[in-house]
Amino acid sequence: MAGPVNPNVAALTPYKPGKPVDELTRELGITDIVKLASNENPRGPGEGVQQAIRKASGQLSRYPDGNGFGLKKALASQLGVDMRQITLGNGSNDVLELAARMAITPGAEVVIPEHAFVVYTLAATLCGGALVRVPALNYGADLDAMLEAVTPQTAMVFLANPNNPTGTWVNQASLVRFLDALPEHVWMVLDEAYFEYVSAAGYPDGVRLLERYPNLIVTRTFSKIHGLAALRVGYALSSPAVADLLNRARQPFNVNSLGLAAAEAALRDPDYVRESRTLNERGMTQITAGLQEMELEYIPSLGNFVALAVPGANGSPGASEVYEDLLRLGVIVRPIAEYGLPRHLRVSIGLPEENARFLQALARVLG
Ligand code: PMP
Repeated sequence: MAGPVNPNVAALTPYKPGKPVDELTRELGITDIVKLASNENPRGPGEGVQQAIRKASGQLSRYPDGNGFGLKKALASQLGVDMRQITLGNGSNDVLELAARMAITPGAEVVIPEHAFVVYTLAATLCGGALVRVPALNYGADLDAMLEAVTPQTAMVFLANPNNPTGTWVNQASLVRFLDALPEHVWMVLDEAYFEYVSAAGYPDGVRLLERYPNLIVTRTFSKIHGLAALRVGYALSSPAVADLLNRARQPFNVNSLGLAAAEAALRDPDYVRESRTLNERGMTQITAGLQEMELEYIPSLGNFVALAVPGANGSPGASEVYEDLLRLGVIVRPIAEYGLPRHLRVSIGLPEENARFLQALARVLG
């Protein structure tokens, strides 16, 4: 090495994304590929969004609005919050990292549930935080055990609701009980990346809890139900004082102008969101019915994905073999061994024909 290396950077394990379609084409020479590996919306963006992108693309030599005024105004009005409560990010990963950078100093403890979304580990490690992983209960977050894990050294708790990759969730009563018991010196990051997909009774809306809990930071994204994963737009909602701190740590132009324009247009298209939710519910039913038919276990999920257990005993193939075999049939899913689930594969809900193709391929691979 030519110079000093920050040990927190050296300690990072790079994020492993779902395999891109082009990569599979390069590796195996196949072109008829279904990607169900990154919890994307399988529909293309709506017409209004496409128009907004075309319009914004005429201004590419100009920097974007560094304050994202138009998008913040639209979000504030839709969510019933003050514009000063919003921090925009280059995807919600960006605001998750901003939250970590705001609060986590070297040695501070960061409590996360087992099987949590991996970006919490990355962000906390980068800041020199000490991760405290709390064993799961039925694959989901064990909130009581997480409270017990909090010490005077705890800076932050991360919780995704629902969680990726398990799809598990906590209800309003449990979340409120948790927040009531969480000491005020601890920040709570509630990651609601899949919020708009959920219609279950008793599912909490983090935004409505912000007034009551000044230590709460809620994150959301345009990458999932809004279908804009490529443009990288996410946001955090918090008290204005916290948003002020997050915005200080932010890069001046962290959200690009195509993303800003597209996200603003997406908010004007509630039908797209509703149709995407319905499509996802039908696809979830289609996939879980198929899994039941094959007598495969899965973790009930409120997201746009489901984690299924691969039998893998008595000579039948294990999860990583099934993953590779599915690739050869042109179906990309996600191995989740790095999430502590080596027996499971996660499949994202696609279009009906993509879901059918996945089920057929899985049946063939499992013989
Ligand atoms: N949180 C969770 C729970 C996620 O699953 C994801 C996407 N994989 C993200 C945050 C980040 O998504 P983005 O940066 O695209 O907003």
